[in-house]
Amino acid sequence: MALTVQKIFTPSTLTRAFSVTAARKSGFNFELNETQREMQAMARKFAREEIAPQAAHFDRTGEYPIEILKKAWAVGLMNSHIPEHCGGLNQGVFDACLMGEELSWGCSGIGTVIGSSHLGQVPVILNGTKEQQKKYLGRLIEEPLVAAYAVTEPGCGSDVNGVKTRAEKKGDEYVINGQKMWITNGGVANWYFVLARTNPDPKAPASKAFTGFIVDRDTPGVTPGRKEMNMGQRASDTRGVTFEEVRVPKENVLLGEGAGFKIAMGAFDTTRPPVACGATGVAQRCLDEATKYSLERKTFGVPIAYHQAVAFMLADMAIGVETARLAWMRAAWEADHGIRNSYSASIAKAYAGDVANKCASDAVQIFGGAGFNSEYPVEKLMRDAKIYQIYEGTTQIQKLVISRTVLEASKRMA
Ligand SMILES: Cc1cc2nc3c(=O)[nH]c(=O)nc-3n(C[C@H](O)[C@H](O)[C@H](O)COP(=O)(O)OP(=O)(O)OC[C@H]3O[C@@H](n4cnc5c(N)ncnc54)[C@H](O)[C@@H]3O)c2cc1C
Repeated sequence: MALTVQKIFTPSTLTRAFSVTAARKSGFNFELNETQREMQAMARKFAREEIAPQAAHFDRTGEYPIEILKKAWAVGLMNSHIPEHCGGLNQGVFDACLMGEELSWGCSGIGTVIGSSHLGQVPVILNGTKEQQKKYLGRLIEEPLVAAYAVTEPGCGSDVNGVKTRAEKKGDEYVINGQKMWITNGGVANWYFVLARTNPDPKAPASKAFTGFIVDRDTPGVTPGRKEMNMGQRASDTRGVTFEEVRVPKENVLLGEGAGFKIAMGAFDTTRPPVACGATGVAQRCLDEATKYSLERKTFGVPIAYHQAVAFMLADMAIGVETARLAWMRAAWEADHGIRNSYSASIAKAYAGDVANKCASDAVQIFGGAGFNSEYPVEKLMRDAKIYQIYEGTTQIQKLVISRTVLEASKRMA
């Protein structure tokens, strides 16, 4: 299918479309500005014309949709949050989420292919020197390349303090040894953000024991494993990556030795709203598919939508979609306004993940037997939805963050 969208956004037309000053002056406001509406429409068109028609193929084969990625890159659907001095648009989290929700509506696996480079980039955007940013973010603007965030290991995911990958300083270099697991873009990334332990003392506090590195994919000793065949989002490239005597120049350390834990965790305030918007896109797709089917399928002489039990399932799905959307919007808006948003980002991520799973399960129910069959669209949605309760911090880890915030606030008020 011919590509019909144009690259219409440049740094001059899109310098943080959601202007801080304008927003503060106008007060509370649900209205998108014209640029945001255009971006959303462009992403919606791309999702419907370029992604959705091919989603079943990439789900079935597990192939990496490189041609779709290249088109998304060419029309400006990737990397818009990269700073202007590296050739990016310096776009806010809110605007990226507006587009991300639309892409995930088309297929959240392909949406992850297009959007997940962001997770690898955020540590560099927030903590990199101008030189590091220009070198590593700049190349993603010049070519359709992607980055990856390599923190999880076979022995630890939620408990990041358990990272065993070691980095030892030798002269002007660090030598990295270890194994990462479940890394999105593990086999296709041009470079990785890697978290490694630099203080061998097991009693060293996490806040000082780890260091964050930028590691080029083509450095000798970096070996991605086989592509994992996951339950859902099968277009996305998930792999283990082994680091064996990998020599990294000290210039590739982010912030400084010992700052890695803070960098790795600090990324989530920016990256969890985009995960929540992806889950919302899946939930919206479930509602759309279920609504359409319920008006076509008849039982007892009427479309099943006219049975109150079915109509109320649609209503519950709509309640979930609308409120999940509000949750990511708040978390993203706070991120763009420099407001500490760990709490709202965790709420958005946990809530939208649960909503996507509930909507997917209800959509399968509304489709009846056809819902359980892979010729129909909703069983894929149910498989795709599950990951939103796992990656970028499980639902339980989000609830740890949320409950800690609630308890701390309560103590302050006591
Ligand atoms: C498809 C996919 C893509 C991924 N992409 C990336 C990536 O790009 N980069 C990356 O670094 N990682 C990535 N991950 C890893 C992901 O972030 C981890 O799988 C996730 O954080 C959970 O860690 P774990 O698998 O080790 O589970 P565990 O930490 O072993 O948790 C197992 C279970 O115990 C629960 N649990 C653990 N601790 C607690 C606690 N304190 N309180 C209550 N419950 C708890 C968890 O919620 C979970 O239900 C990806 C994973 C998948 C499946």
